[in-house]
Amino acid sequence: MKTFCGRANPTTGAMEWLEEDESYDYHQEIARSRYADMLHDKDRNVKYYQGIRAAVSRVKERGEKAIVLDIGTGTGLLSMMAASAGADFCYAVEVFKPMANAAVKIVEKNGFSDKIKVINKHSTEVTVGPDGDMQCRANILVTELFDTELIGEGALPTYEHAHKHLVQEGCEAVPHRATVYVQLVESKRMWSWNKLFPVCVEAEDGEKIIVSPSEMENCPGVPSVCDIQLNQMPSSDFTILSDVVTMFSVDFSKPVRSASTCYRVQLETIKSGKAQIVLSWWDIDMDPSGKINCTMAPYWVKPTSALQWRDHWMQCVYFLPNEEPVFQGENVYLTAYRDEYSVWYKLQKAREEENKADVRVESPVCRCQAHLLWNRPRFGELNDQNRTCQYMKSLMKVLKTDSICLCISDGSLLPVLAHYLGAKQVLLAFLKANHLEDKIKILEARPESLTSSHLEDKKISVLLGEPFFTTSLLPWHNLYFWYARTAVTMHLASDVTVLPQSASLHMMIVEFQDLWRIRSPCGTCEGFDVRTMDDMIKNSLDFRESKEAEPHPLWEYPCKSLSDPQEVLTFDFRRTVPQHDLSAEGSVNLLRKGKSHGAVLWMEYHLTADISVNTGLTQISNDKGNCEWNPHCKQAVYFFSSVIDSETQTDFPSAVTYAINFNPKTGEITMDFKL
Ligand code: SAH
Repeated sequence: MKTFCGRANPTTGAMEWLEEDESYDYHQEIARSRYADMLHDKDRNVKYYQGIRAAVSRVKERGEKAIVLDIGTGTGLLSMMAASAGADFCYAVEVFKPMANAAVKIVEKNGFSDKIKVINKHSTEVTVGPDGDMQCRANILVTELFDTELIGEGALPTYEHAHKHLVQEGCEAVPHRATVYVQLVESKRMWSWNKLFPVCVEAEDGEKIIVSPSEMENCPGVPSVCDIQLNQMPSSDFTILSDVVTMFSVDFSKPVRSASTCYRVQLETIKSGKAQIVLSWWDIDMDPSGKINCTMAPYWVKPTSALQWRDHWMQCVYFLPNEEPVFQGENVYLTAYRDEYSVWYKLQKAREEENKADVRVESPVCRCQAHLLWNRPRFGELNDQNRTCQYMKSLMKVLKTDSICLCISDGSLLPVLAHYLGAKQVLLAFLKANHLEDKIKILEARPESLTSSHLEDKKISVLLGEPFFTTSLLPWHNLYFWYARTAVTMHLASDVTVLPQSASLHMMIVEFQDLWRIRSPCGTCEGFDVRTMDDMIKNSLDFRESKEAEPHPLWEYPCKSLSDPQEVLTFDFRRTVPQHDLSAEGSVNLLRKGKSHGAVLWMEYHLTADISVNTGLTQISNDKGNCEWNPHCKQAVYFFSSVIDSETQTDFPSAVTYAINFNPKTGEITMDFKL
């Protein structure tokens, strides 16, 4: 079956119709899935295996047959562990059809077809009885249905249903229990992902402060979890205000309730400061004794030597609705609210606690719109004073008192900066709070449908863009600015200044400390052959003719440079988008030994001839080649299909050749590398 899917091209802005194979979606899902990352998670796998062995033994010791229900079997891994541990029979339930098919193949290949039945259903559809999917209820419940927030993938309703309909009373569960931990912190860096800080503008007629509207100050934000690799957050970027405390735990061997509820703990603050953020993570005990424990605790809680890198489970950052000053030794109450799928927090001072009944149980809803328009990194970017400073310096160079500015960017503060820095009239965005309605005009038109009457028959003397668009996923998608600039050409004055005047694409070969795992084949996992899964992922990655680069925020994923950064393409915004392709071919020398996992690509915007903002590599911090990246942006990562390890090769390649092409019709950048 073929389906036509309409979408706006993120770079050109054009509406296009793509002919999609029905398999397209699942290839995407598998290619970008976390299955490989889970199979590489040694710590998780070992502990599941230990827990499953212990559960099977306990059941056998009671003289019962061990009947296992594995909900969300994926590759079939946990069922194969159970069968190897001596389980009599396993029901392996998997809702995602391509995975269920893969599980059948993997189970067969490993010789467990007589012990494991794969059921391609959602667990809530599974039937029990002589004619049912399961002959009888199971007495061992095994699952791995957790996300970074623990419950975000629907573990609670799934457990609730399973206890009612699919397992025996008093069953064994692996994991046996999950516990959620919290710690209260102050962090300017993390708080800057949630609130807009005042921006100070040094204008000719004195200092101006851009403030955010009061709705925004008091807005509880959005309920979506902020999950990050907290182990990459240096301790200098936050202040710990409380000890680690247990917020709540769930016993999976007993009936589970998924209905909304809340949990309250009393905390004694160990330091004075501003309570802004709740950091949270969880652990799972694979057995009732708690001796087989798999924890997501960050480095300051757990010795770094015991840290297992993983990307499928990280840590959570929760923003309190408002910052609250606290004093050392003070008692405060922290409440966790949860519904079936998400968690949010509220802090109360002890003395308010007695008389104020708690009413807020609904999940946070953004009232100010900003949290819907800007995601967390975007808040961080807008709050970056150094970046704002670059824009201010460049605006001061180009603006004159009679400048007519047109700004093309999503949710940008540039129009306000431009106004304060002296532009006569600025067209497009920002808010009532700064009382600029009469100075800044918002044009609700796409660039190609802009007319002279929108512009009151004036010609644009300064065309501005950060550029930033919410539809951009890969760095070069912001080249939409160039297309928009091309579309408004007839409204531009002959001596128009375009800011940024140009952009450049940069590239560097890197060795990742860990990120390579997410795209690397597993072979065997705890002795089970999972190559079928490897082949399936490879097949999905190759599904599109050209392998694509993927976006990753590299501040969270350490890597070292193996080559110098190289400028590969430039885009001149002073001219319109060309008709012909832009391409670059060449080679980069490998300067260091290491594994060439892939190339990283990023954009630099040249605001004026001598002022630039960089969305990628900010520094190579030492002679080992460790890289520092812009913390607000995702960079593009192109994983090489085979990894060359210069440590083990005698004649290791000294250079990587590349061919990179920008197609102005599609806005796509394709690339090819040879080692
Ligand atoms: N058990 C495997 C895979 C875990 S990933 C392992 O540990 O390696 C979780 C899997 O559960 C996904 O494949 C997802 O499709 C599936 N899943 C989630 N909820 C489910 C449910 N209620 N019923 C059936 N499958 C489910």
